[in-house]
Amino acid sequence: MELFRAAIFHTPDNPFHVPVGDRREMVCYQDGGLLVSNGRVAACGAYAAIRNANPGAVSVDWRGGILLPGLVDAHVHFPQVRVIGAMGRTLLDWLEAVALPEESRMADHAYAEETARLFVHALASHGTTAAVVFGAHFAAATAALFEAAARSGLRIASGLVLSDHELRPDLHTTPERAYRESAELIARYHKRGRLLYAVTPRFAYSTTEPMLEACQQLMTDHADVRLQTHINENAAEVMAVVGRFPWATDYLAVYERYGLSGNRSVMAHNVHATPSQIDRLAAAGAAVAHCPASNAALGSGSFPLRRHVDAGVTCALGTDVGGGVGFGILKEGLQAYLTQRLAPDPQGLDGARLLYMATRAGAKALGLEAEIGDFEPGKAADFVYVRPREGSVLAAAVRHAADPSDALAAVFMLAGPESIREVRVEGDIVFASGD
Ligand SMILES: [Zn+2]
Repeated sequence: MELFRAAIFHTPDNPFHVPVGDRREMVCYQDGGLLVSNGRVAACGAYAAIRNANPGAVSVDWRGGILLPGLVDAHVHFPQVRVIGAMGRTLLDWLEAVALPEESRMADHAYAEETARLFVHALASHGTTAAVVFGAHFAAATAALFEAAARSGLRIASGLVLSDHELRPDLHTTPERAYRESAELIARYHKRGRLLYAVTPRFAYSTTEPMLEACQQLMTDHADVRLQTHINENAAEVMAVVGRFPWATDYLAVYERYGLSGNRSVMAHNVHATPSQIDRLAAAGAAVAHCPASNAALGSGSFPLRRHVDAGVTCALGTDVGGGVGFGILKEGLQAYLTQRLAPDPQGLDGARLLYMATRAGAKALGLEAEIGDFEPGKAADFVYVRPREGSVLAAAVRHAADPSDALAAVFMLAGPESIREVRVEGDIVFASGD
């Protein structure tokens, strides 16, 4: 048994259910102990009490550092890792000019394998232990991602990206081939170790009704795979979708007709959501991946977080990567905070709420809330050791924080990848900074 000693934060309860500033919003131990046995959390609490009850445990002294549950990236595209940083574009022209030419290069298997290695390392080195990942439009490249993910030890839900309309013809497939190749990938990778499969129609804009039917068939034939797609990201996209499916009252109605927006689904963005769509997502138990950096960078709009929270929709955080500003869910939490400060109907956020969105909400989006997301005894020991660099502004801010809540807020404000020292999944080291 190992006993990790550090300041420990987690959110076993949903802090959005209590008023901002309520002490029940977060569990924290300034001198905390996390006892890990066979990859599971055996206990989490005050260090001294756990030490006394477990004299045989091997202590790991991380005082001065902070332990958080593993971070979850609920929406991220593996083939876009090299095209982060395009400025001044909006969704549809960015896809055509920047993202999709790079996604076409995934037809080259060696290129896809190298990209997959780069991608999983980027996740782990930013403290991400689990992610919902858009694969490639090519089955072999998607398999390359699963292989890299298996080697990395991370929890990855991913799938073959499906399109048969608009976008680039070289990225198109047929509904029959989409079904066959997805089913083959499910057989090879779903529930292999820490991997999960997610059926992945790119978005209604780039899929025909027979393709959506193929996705529905995959969800019916495989009762525990997940689904990921995009919805209501950009105003021009929303208009095009509603125009193409005249029977649909709104964007969500397209997915609803094919049973694609249920409690196994993660819908990315939902910026331009009407109250009716938010209520229907809540009733269906679908999760939303909120990608604030991407929404700002592509000028997509202001995410109505408050309306989602009030309706009871699970809102996790996603980096989106190509459209966003890079990896790291702590940074994404900061972006959520900043964009809500400027939103017309803002949702108040603080360290506890951001931590919940970065961990527990992501676990729920993955369908893994019984397994990961906090440090309740029995859960998997997935965690991030954050330690400010000596002499850094973050070190000073944490040391001088008036209370633990302020220290956690400083972590969201200031912690970059240089502060991520060690990352574990089920107790296994998946990243160590080496110093
Ligand atoms: Zn996306």
